[in-house]
Amino acid sequence: VQTHPPFLRLLDALRDVVQKPSKGQSIVYWMRMGDLRISDNKALALASAQAVEDQVPLVVLHVLSPQDYIAHDRSKTRIDFVLRNLSRVKDELARLNIPLYTITHTPRKSVPTRVISVLQTLQSTRLFANFEYEVDELRRDTEVCSLAQNAGIRPTYVHDRCIIEPGVVKTKDGRTYTVYSPYQRNWISILNSNLSDYLKESPSPTSNPSTIREDHVFGPLFEVDVPVSVHGFELDPEEAANMANIWPAGTSYAKEMLSRFLYTKARATQLGAVDPLADGAEDSDKSSRVLLYDEARDRGDKDTTSRLSPYLSAGVISVRECVRQTMKLLRIQKVEAGRSSGVGRWVQELAWRDFYTNVLAYYPRVSMGRPFQERFADVKWEVNEEHLKAWKEGKTGIPIVDAAMRQINTMGWTHNRMRMIVAMFLSKDLMLDWRLGERYFMEKLIDGDLASNNGGWQWSASTGVDPAPYFRIFNPYTQSSKADPTGDFIRTFVPELKSLYGSDIHNPPAKVADKLGYPKPIVNHAEARVRAIRRYKTPGEE
Ligand code: FAD
Repeated sequence: VQTHPPFLRLLDALRDVVQKPSKGQSIVYWMRMGDLRISDNKALALASAQAVEDQVPLVVLHVLSPQDYIAHDRSKTRIDFVLRNLSRVKDELARLNIPLYTITHTPRKSVPTRVISVLQTLQSTRLFANFEYEVDELRRDTEVCSLAQNAGIRPTYVHDRCIIEPGVVKTKDGRTYTVYSPYQRNWISILNSNLSDYLKESPSPTSNPSTIREDHVFGPLFEVDVPVSVHGFELDPEEAANMANIWPAGTSYAKEMLSRFLYTKARATQLGAVDPLADGAEDSDKSSRVLLYDEARDRGDKDTTSRLSPYLSAGVISVRECVRQTMKLLRIQKVEAGRSSGVGRWVQELAWRDFYTNVLAYYPRVSMGRPFQERFADVKWEVNEEHLKAWKEGKTGIPIVDAAMRQINTMGWTHNRMRMIVAMFLSKDLMLDWRLGERYFMEKLIDGDLASNNGGWQWSASTGVDPAPYFRIFNPYTQSSKADPTGDFIRTFVPELKSLYGSDIHNPPAKVADKLGYPKPIVNHAEARVRAIRRYKTPGEE
């Protein structure tokens, strides 16, 4: 058991750093791959204020670290999304005379040395960054702290990713929650007790007070333009165009997505609002997706959720902004605790994001291939390359599983309910190791996030904090008729079945499937369920 996680070690290291460095020639903000925006960005706001106070230029630095992408199984679509957003950020910063420089660095171990040497070249004594809670990143930042101390540089890290940062929501006796419901109740009461502080908007950076000296910038040190791709993570042109079309880059687009979720176009037009969040909005709009969220969120055949996860995981929009705007639009003074309202429910989904980040910060072993519940460490998994391949390609013969996997393969995204169905199917029906699925998701998702992905997989495989009990195994056919009652979702992603309706779309009769060239189910659910319960009940045995 990890008693002093890297997160706490970094907090300790930060206490020891140089508190009063001499004034330098510039201020550096290190923009990480999870904070790709200039508005409401805590570290960037602090860095900008410091630049104004010191009357020196602010420089924004981004480090492209291909070895880290490999270590985290990052998808090509995610890296492409990072670069597209960085390029937007660069343009926005340029209007403020703030340069954004990227460096591509390998090996990953020496990123801290490289960053410190960049600061030295820029004669900067202040480094600002938002925390990253992944283990390797925490270790890297601890190393940055110790190098900074010797170099007379003061690093400042701030919490930005969550609404309530890790370590704040604790049990009465000061322990970290490992069960979601009491965490969420406490999370809501802490949030409501200090709403204005938790949701406070950080000021956008101001124009640079002076320009960076050219001799500090040009030369081999930086890539002046954001690269269009990273070696080994190139998308083919068709896929790149597809991704740019489905998931356009930029904070303004993310904000549009948020308004679209909070409002319907019809409603906005009815109100005559160009900006759907403008004053004059009434709080009784029953057609707003967020108000219908509680009852409709599990529908795969309808567009019922926000689809903001790519933007939230890359930090293109701030999570505080999402809650602020929701409350503003609906004129809500406090976040509701109950699940009966769509708004309360949606905000509670954002709390899951905080919860899993908290789990990662305090129990880093979950991200190192360990089940949170060690009693399931020895569950006997099948080794079956054919089944794994069929699952990945969406050719299992179970339509809902295939539709969801094909959506992931083409869009880099699928609904939460679909993720749960395919994850449960892999780990229980196919009895394949959940870590194989966790990895494949990271390799394909555009919103791949270690904490939420690991949390979702360990929930589905019944090995995590507060998981689905191992004996409650989703029946994929029943799930299918609930999550896709019209069958539209399956027909969209499994076109072979587009002529089927009614119950046939969920479980096509063998002869019909054969005729349509659709595979037979690779596993019998009833038998697989019995096997899974046996294996989980007696880990280590057949
Ligand atoms: P909405 O329903 O609109 O929710 C709003 C936001 O809340 C999401 O964008 C997300 O940031 C957060 N959220 C919602 N549900 C969860 C949840 N269960 N856990 C954590 N955060 C949540 N989410 C990721 O962002 N990245 C992942 O890599 C990821 N992998 C997952 C793997 C599995 C096996 C499962 C079951 C879930 C995973 N999730 C992941 C959580 C969830 O499925 C997605 O966040 C959600 O489907 C995104 O769609 P949305 O933006 O429309 O969500």
